[in-house]
Amino acid sequence: MKTYPLIILGGGLAGWALAHQLSQAGFCELLLLEAQFYAAGASGVPHALLHPFPGRSLYPREAYLSAWQTSLKWLSELQQSSQNALYHSLPLWRVAYDSATAERFERSFKRAQAVPHYPLKALTKTAPLPVAQAAYGLEQGRLVCTSALLNHLRQQSSSIKQQAYAGPLSLSRQILAGETLWCLSGSEQSYYAKQIVLATGGGLSQFFADLPLVSSRGEVFSFELDLELPAAVSTAGHFIAPLGSGRFHAGATHYQGHALPPTQSWELLKSGLRWLPGLEKAKLLRVWSGLRSGLKHDREPLLGPVPDQPGLWVMAGFSTRGLLLIPTAAQLLTQVLLQRSAEGLIPDWLNSCRLPAEHWTLAESI
Ligand SMILES: Cc1cc2nc3c(=O)[nH]c(=O)nc-3n(C[C@H](O)[C@H](O)[C@H](O)COP(=O)(O)OP(=O)(O)OC[C@H]3O[C@@H](n4cnc5c(N)ncnc54)[C@H](O)[C@@H]3O)c2cc1C
Repeated sequence: MKTYPLIILGGGLAGWALAHQLSQAGFCELLLLEAQFYAAGASGVPHALLHPFPGRSLYPREAYLSAWQTSLKWLSELQQSSQNALYHSLPLWRVAYDSATAERFERSFKRAQAVPHYPLKALTKTAPLPVAQAAYGLEQGRLVCTSALLNHLRQQSSSIKQQAYAGPLSLSRQILAGETLWCLSGSEQSYYAKQIVLATGGGLSQFFADLPLVSSRGEVFSFELDLELPAAVSTAGHFIAPLGSGRFHAGATHYQGHALPPTQSWELLKSGLRWLPGLEKAKLLRVWSGLRSGLKHDREPLLGPVPDQPGLWVMAGFSTRGLLLIPTAAQLLTQVLLQRSAEGLIPDWLNSCRLPAEHWTLAESI
């Protein structure tokens, strides 16, 4: 029976960013297990936007600007060792076409002027878009090619053992030869580890039914449109980014429940982007659907130890902010795993221990 020092569960962006960070630090004796196939979850969207203002406010939340700088640096370092483009650099415009959003943008932009190194500037022109009620620009926008990024992280972590398997598994703590180990039992095989990181995205609720997680389904689309757009553009809920040669990536829809038929979700997106010139003539090419999962009360991720379960760690709940927060989370958790202690390393706003222990009851069989 082989016992791993560490198993990472989940082969999305979080699992692979952590595996890569650990392997860069020389910690290679680990196994990454994925329940379905790589990028089966939210990380399966082909492109994603990186900027420090997710949501409806232009005031960056605590630590978001430094997390954004970490993500920019992480991407640019990864790009140096990749032959494929991992991202496109382009300006990002935040625009408002209704008065409620314009007011919110104006208010939060004004308040943010006191924030050191605040990167947004007011815009006076947004051609070829119609004149907006409020418009702001970020020079350093990034449209990230998520599939190329994940492939690169996997290739760079080739010293790590990785395995995809299907079927249910249960997680339990066992004492073997006097040593306490975590055991993941599948229908055909069992895996033993001293430590386990749950990077299972929305799958976290399989392990902890009492966690206050909320999932929202969403789609992104690729389509052709006769428009020259010099920037990625984001309103309060939707965005569009040029991919070149008349193709665009846009999203995202947000709703609860089962996936809508593609024609219906495409209509939802078009209604969100109705200010876009020529949209009624766009030719839809492809639709991707996924679930984002986050904590109900503050939408911030869960990073760190699972209370009262020594050796069990969590890195999940990135909701719509994966690119902004996963690189920072991977760096922090790597430090914690190398030092074998989370003492003073994980800030409160990310720390899994901010949720009381009663939310962390481990399901007996999954
Ligand atoms: C439509 C849409 C648009 C988005 N746009 C953006 C964007 O523009 N910018 C941005 O930053 N973010 C965006 N996101 C969010 C981003 O994709 C996520 O934050 C990020 O991918 C989360 O990564 P993850 O690894 O935590 O989760 P996931 O990618 O969901 O990975 C979790 C993995 O764990 C596996 N798993 C689950 N349970 C188990 C188990 N029991 N055993 C083993 N494996 C298991 C799953 O199969 C999955 O592969 C978007 C998401 C969606 C759905």
